[in-house]
Amino acid sequence: MSAADSTAQVTKSKTNPSLFFVFTSADCNLSCTYCGATAEDLQMPHRPTYPVDDLAKFFESEDGEGITVVFYGGEPLTSIPFLRKVMDRYPKAQFILQSNVTLLHSLPTEYLLRLWSILVSIDGSEATTDGYRSKGLYKRVMDNVHDAIDRGYKGPLVARMTCSMKTDIAAEAIHLLRDAPVPFTAVYWQMDVGFDAPMNTRWGDFPGWMNNQYKPSLDRLRDFFVAELKEGRAPIIVPFLGVLNTVLGRSAINGLRCGVGVDTWSITTDGRLMICPVGFDEPWNCIGDIHTSTKSDLERVDVAGACDKCSIRNVCGGRCLYVNKTAWWGDEGMDWICEGVRHLVKIMEDLVPDVKKMLEEGHPALEMALDDPALSDFSLEIIP
Ligand code: SF4
Ligand code: SF4
Repeated sequence: MSAADSTAQVTKSKTNPSLFFVFTSADCNLSCTYCGATAEDLQMPHRPTYPVDDLAKFFESEDGEGITVVFYGGEPLTSIPFLRKVMDRYPKAQFILQSNVTLLHSLPTEYLLRLWSILVSIDGSEATTDGYRSKGLYKRVMDNVHDAIDRGYKGPLVARMTCSMKTDIAAEAIHLLRDAPVPFTAVYWQMDVGFDAPMNTRWGDFPGWMNNQYKPSLDRLRDFFVAELKEGRAPIIVPFLGVLNTVLGRSAINGLRCGVGVDTWSITTDGRLMICPVGFDEPWNCIGDIHTSTKSDLERVDVAGACDKCSIRNVCGGRCLYVNKTAWWGDEGMDWICEGVRHLVKIMEDLVPDVKKMLEEGHPALEMALDDPALSDFSLEIIP
């Protein structure tokens, strides 16, 4: 079956929905080179149009117990009053903020301190971040992260990078983990691929970038990771540790690594339900609304097509439902995207003997890193 033929399979198996991306706003206060989406692009109202009380019936939880809410947008902090209402109404829920953090200083400390984790959109060094996102952005992010720490925030600060054509992923990740004014506790990245068509419209030569830039850079990041392990440290490079957990046999995966279609779903500003928070205009992605469904009604959705025949599906998980379903880059482009996944899996498999030895001899930092909640609880795209 060609990638373009692939269809998301809706099976009848029940899921365990527990994490919801809640759009608090369709607006964003930035216009990044690889995104620039507006409320009109997102095809939903600028602000939530449903009362927060309506979530209780859908959640099947009066106080939010057992639910994790990821505040999402647009930029979620352009809608702080709604965010506060959700936190006040569902005191037992866990809250994650996925944000560019340029407005984090406006979030009252009482609410800041209730966040379980902050996923910060930043692309690496100052030059790379400002180049993609806007001049002065890096400093604003660092100032606001610093301010959050000064106000008492002690939770995870996870850098979520977009990896695009000017990215040297090793340099960017090492910068954020080790050299930034406020080092991040974990890093992961999403590839800026498969969202437009055809493959080389923006990239020019994606296969060349993959072979000559990305894969050698992944190798350099692996070398950094190994050097750190030898010093008794274990930087939380989410794709490395997530894949290592699987190839070490410590944890099997259950569908997509980001969790969508298994235990993770999205709620638009007008209360519609989506499988993945990207793909708001895709009919296959729109599966109902919070007023006519409850979380128990949600049925599992899996990738299909090329993934069904892939020898590393049990490690990859299928990478991305949106890209699998839309297949904008066609078979050849999809294969080049998967080349990056294959390389990541290969270099982690090659580390298994050394890592096993380190664990047998005792490596507390690595043990802790392999159990880090960033690998399991925050719906991160572990496969870039
Ligand atoms: S590498 Fe991942 S995304 Fe690519 S075909 Fe295999 S399972 Fe699917
Ligand atoms: S990896 Fe793909 S399917 Fe998963 S949340 Fe991101 S865009 Fe959606």
